[in-house]
Amino acid sequence: MLAGMSAPGWLASDVSAADVRDEIVVIYPKPDQLISAVDSTFILGHVPPKRGDWSYRIQINGQAVEVHADGGFIAFLPIQPGAFTFQLDAFLEEKDRDYQSRIKSPFSPRLPPYSVRLSRELTVFVPEPLSTVDADTLVIAGDHKPPRGRLELRAGDRLAVTFRGTPNCRAWFSIEGVADSVPMSESPPRLQPYWGETVFGAGAVPDSLKIRGIYTGFYNVPDTARIDTAQILYHLAPPSRETVIAEWLMHVSALELHRYLLWMQAGAIEKPSSYRVSFNNPSYPFTVRFADSVQIVRHGPRKGYLSIFQPEGVEALAVSAEGDWYRLQLSQTQFGWVARQSVQALAKGILPPHSYLRSIRTHAAADHVRVEFPLSGKHPFRVIEDNRRTIRVQLFGVTTDTDWIRYDFSDSLIDLATWSQPEPGLYELKLRLTSDIWGYDSFYAGNTFVFRLNRAPTDVTRIRGKTIVIDPGHSGDPGAIGPTGYTEAQANLELALVLKKELRRRGAKVVMTRQDDRHVALYDRPAIARANEADLFVSIHNNALPDGVNPFTNNGSSTYYYHLHSMDLARSIQGELLKATGLNDYGLFHGNLAVNRPTQHPAVLIECAFMILPEQEALLKTGKFRKKVAKGIAKGIEHFLKEYNHGK
Ligand SMILES: [Zn+2]
Repeated sequence: MLAGMSAPGWLASDVSAADVRDEIVVIYPKPDQLISAVDSTFILGHVPPKRGDWSYRIQINGQAVEVHADGGFIAFLPIQPGAFTFQLDAFLEEKDRDYQSRIKSPFSPRLPPYSVRLSRELTVFVPEPLSTVDADTLVIAGDHKPPRGRLELRAGDRLAVTFRGTPNCRAWFSIEGVADSVPMSESPPRLQPYWGETVFGAGAVPDSLKIRGIYTGFYNVPDTARIDTAQILYHLAPPSRETVIAEWLMHVSALELHRYLLWMQAGAIEKPSSYRVSFNNPSYPFTVRFADSVQIVRHGPRKGYLSIFQPEGVEALAVSAEGDWYRLQLSQTQFGWVARQSVQALAKGILPPHSYLRSIRTHAAADHVRVEFPLSGKHPFRVIEDNRRTIRVQLFGVTTDTDWIRYDFSDSLIDLATWSQPEPGLYELKLRLTSDIWGYDSFYAGNTFVFRLNRAPTDVTRIRGKTIVIDPGHSGDPGAIGPTGYTEAQANLELALVLKKELRRRGAKVVMTRQDDRHVALYDRPAIARANEADLFVSIHNNALPDGVNPFTNNGSSTYYYHLHSMDLARSIQGELLKATGLNDYGLFHGNLAVNRPTQHPAVLIECAFMILPEQEALLKTGKFRKKVAKGIAKGIEHFLKEYNHGK
């Protein structure tokens, strides 16, 4: 997509520097952008490409930055908290000639290099890292990692309270009418990992994140505590006279001692929490009904997934809340969280379903085997892949009365089915299979829970005849953008079209989620795969990094799976891709990505190269590199199919 590479007008004619309308274009970050980095981050963009012997050299904040022949550049530079300005300067130079020799030359070049200088500034905002409160003043800075809004707790729940203030002091909290002087302690300084660096970088944690003055305490909500709404009051007092004498006198200067004395005269200070709490609110518990068709139950508000694809109509008991999240009691000891707006609260007194499961039956079909669980309501469920040939189906709120499991004798995929009741309110069916899991579906037909195990496609070891869905990532949104402005949406599409050809050549049936720039919504992409009864799903992407991660040491090809049954495909593709491209191994990832979550077939996402690096962006524009990538992915798919069931 390099347009206008020929006839560099500004160089061919005798245009003066004043007529040159070249500029420094910064692709990332954008002006005034908030950068979530710690101490360094990257900046990328382009200047006019190299023409003949002429090219630009760039300095950013006085540091020389390498420029690719096509004009692209990327730098990784130190930044400071607050408003931070990048100063970019570009100088035009002729190859093999330095500034001095040119001045001395009697035959002056047409375009004196020192007369073309491009400059621009770009200011971004870098948040102040959380720091230790200045020890000169007695102050409560406020909540530390507060909940996501109002906490609605019940007897037996633990309220954890944390605030930040002057270190080395005495702290406690109170809640009016319920708890008085609950003691708090200063926690030892702990490193706070920055996820961007730990997952996508080298795993380093900067020292600046070590902070002191974090006070913690907790309160177990008793039956007797009853408040509808209250703030927590934080209290902070100077260290006691005894503490000062016992621990510090030897080290404390006269000035510090004076400060402590002043604080002691002033006494304790207090500040309310920014959030409110309620204890034993009589509206709890109540039943909620899932209103979305693909509801996710999580382990905490906005935290990791406990179970995915819960259908509309599933019901469970809400027992407490944090901000916009309900906490559901799933079984005696298991709890999950759902967003308030995706469920409907039912009238007080309505109980969630409770079922006794009497019998289970399997039904064989050509391309699947169905396991049916007749229940008396729609229960939350969870599917766990223990290993390639063992899968467990858990049903919450179900009690066993299972005297019968009837196998469809014509089926050979399910080798053994065993039920258990790990705890009250949790029923589990374990399936032992004769082949590696290909994919599955779980849904309700009326109140019967159906678990449908998909068989591997016929003639599985060969790519011929397999339906492979290729998903060129993004469209509508550009995705990542390379230094010269090449968008990921476009790079993905151009690569995917070459892959389509490559797979068709090998006999596969290919379905594309998009063939052009038309917008296809993220969640429509897996739906296209389902509608076309895909055997495999491959999403094509090209990578960028989160703020603050060094792109020079973290780049290359990577492949992502979500379910265990997709891992072998990801591993095969990653292996062949590396061989084909020769890029760095950026890793095999378990990644919670929307296009990888569908369960029906193996699904992977491939980050072929790093868009944001000038060399890799340039490679992505070439037919040669696209072909290499396509061949690598095709070989990876073939290898996966050949090795399915270890070739048996
Ligand atoms: Zn992408």
